Amino acid sequence: MRQSQLLMPTLREAPSEAEAISHRLMLRAGLIRQLAAGIYTYLPTGRRVLRKLEKIIREEMDNAGCQEVFMPAMQPADLWRQSGRYEKYGPELVRLKDRHDREFALGPTHEEVITDLVRGEINSYRQLPVTLYQIQTKFRDEKRPRYGLLRGREFLMKDAYSFDKDWEGLHESYQRMYDAYHRIFSRCGLRFRPVEADAGTIGGEGGTHEFMALADIGEDTIAVCDRCQYAANLEKAGYRIPETAISTEESDAYPEPEKIHTPNIRTIDELVQALDASADKMLKTLLFIADGNPVAVIVRGDHEVNEIKLAGLLQADMLELADQETTERLTGAAIGFAGPIGLSIPVIVDYSAADIGSAIAGANESDYHWKHVRPGVHFEMTRLGDVRNAVPGDGCPNCDEGKLRMFRGIEVKQVFKLGTKYSEVMQANYLDAAGSEKPIIMGCYGIGISRVMSAVVEQHHDEQGIRWPLELAPYQVHVVPVSAKDALQMDVAGKLYEELGAAGFDVLLDDRDERPGVKFKDSDLIGVPVRIVVGRQAADGMVELIYRIGGEDLQVSTEEALKLVR
Ligand code: ATP
Ligand code: MG
Ligand code: MG
Ligand code: MG
Repeated sequence: MRQSQLLMPTLREAPSEAEAISHRLMLRAGLIRQLAAGIYTYLPTGRRVLRKLEKIIREEMDNAGCQEVFMPAMQPADLWRQSGRYEKYGPELVRLKDRHDREFALGPTHEEVITDLVRGEINSYRQLPVTLYQIQTKFRDEKRPRYGLLRGREFLMKDAYSFDKDWEGLHESYQRMYDAYHRIFSRCGLRFRPVEADAGTIGGEGGTHEFMALADIGEDTIAVCDRCQYAANLEKAGYRIPETAISTEESDAYPEPEKIHTPNIRTIDELVQALDASADKMLKTLLFIADGNPVAVIVRGDHEVNEIKLAGLLQADMLELADQETTERLTGAAIGFAGPIGLSIPVIVDYSAADIGSAIAGANESDYHWKHVRPGVHFEMTRLGDVRNAVPGDGCPNCDEGKLRMFRGIEVKQVFKLGTKYSEVMQANYLDAAGSEKPIIMGCYGIGISRVMSAVVEQHHDEQGIRWPLELAPYQVHVVPVSAKDALQMDVAGKLYEELGAAGFDVLLDDRDERPGVKFKDSDLIGVPVRIVVGRQAADGMVELIYRIGGEDLQVSTEEALKLVR
């Protein structure tokens, strides 16, 4: 692309009402413009970034075996009444009427529409499992749209929905998506942490994780243990800690938890009862406590990225009592109970019980390490209050030794195990192999694409502007002749532009007749990863290679520049 023809209106200053760095930089770099509060136009360069993000997401979704669909934004209110959410969703739901006075909503999310589709098209176990996704505009009349694309009223989301025969299948689908998200965010260069979270309006009985991009502007507060893998979103517990107490550095120490607590429950029935009871009291935010510590145990998952997986324990003798169905019930109840309070979850397993283990997410995976339990600890429930009022430095609710640290995070994605929440009320059933009718087990998985774009800018910038990670950069190489009046410079730059373009790179050529200072400022601002400056030394066949993403500037020959870029 020739910059002289590109609609990329860069600004010296951002409008003063733009608070978030990403918002300011995206306005200044000419990526977006506001139409109304929380509603934005993507200019050509912004659109390019968005498309690159979509491409990464599509690739990873397709690799994970998902199929892309495209659902309507305009949805009949009746469908929302069937799920019970028409009223429940509140003023965030954009409602409208057609000319016949029929009520509609603009989709803030698509559980209803997809469940309606699936109940019509899927009726046999042979058609399951299946995971469908779309990339689509969502509408939410947010009370406080702000921070540019971080909290819009019209925004782009990738939402995926899995449909399985049973919970075991759901755990597998969930894990597949969870893993795909790790790859997506890693490719975007996003530093993130999965945390346990609240089920919100979407609900479901199965539990949920959020992926939080760490950034000071984040509206959520994450409590992270400095010793074990405990990490939770405290915001949903309605709790804000003082700004000054929040750490802005990253925590990447995740030593393995050493101590494990367990309830002193003697029979499976007792445990089922306890978990069932707590599930009933979801909103009362209960927490299992043993010896003053939660019973919940988080066992390590993927070491590479320190993700959190659910696991837990039970005395070995109890495992013998548990059949698969009981185990699934326990898992469901336990997760359902702990999800909304955003805390660790007591779940059930022992390394010796492969058959039972396989009923639980990842339990049959080889890198899981189940631990035996210290028996005889008193089991009781208590209120979450203690944890919610925690301040940095307080003891971790999950392990004995750890201290809590607090971070700000942006929720970039959430995954839910919905279970039968929608399939039951909307009658999305299938016939199993024995011919009996069962509700389909669902999961849903949402990435805020436009929010991710902002989150990436929050994490990748400096004083001068954006520093796009390679895979998201609107252009990969920026060729900048210092003087448009210098025929030789323009000639060398033009050739580089052609050659790199032919080699498959996205190249931007600054062919504008502007002062060098202006060109360089813009180049820094828009943050293309590699810049080739063609200056006076072009006469000697030399150019300058500057890496916006870090690294030393190099004086090289044009041939070498081409080689290095490639
Ligand atoms: P939040 O807690 O920030 O309001 P949410 O929990 O309501 O988000 P979900 O319903 O879980 O959001 O939607 C899935 C994803 O969509 C979120 O993880 C987030 O990345 C994105 N998202 C949600 N609301 C917005 C918004 N107003 N603007 C941009 N992205 C959003
Ligand atoms: Mg919301
Ligand atoms: Mg949220
Ligand atoms: Mg959410």
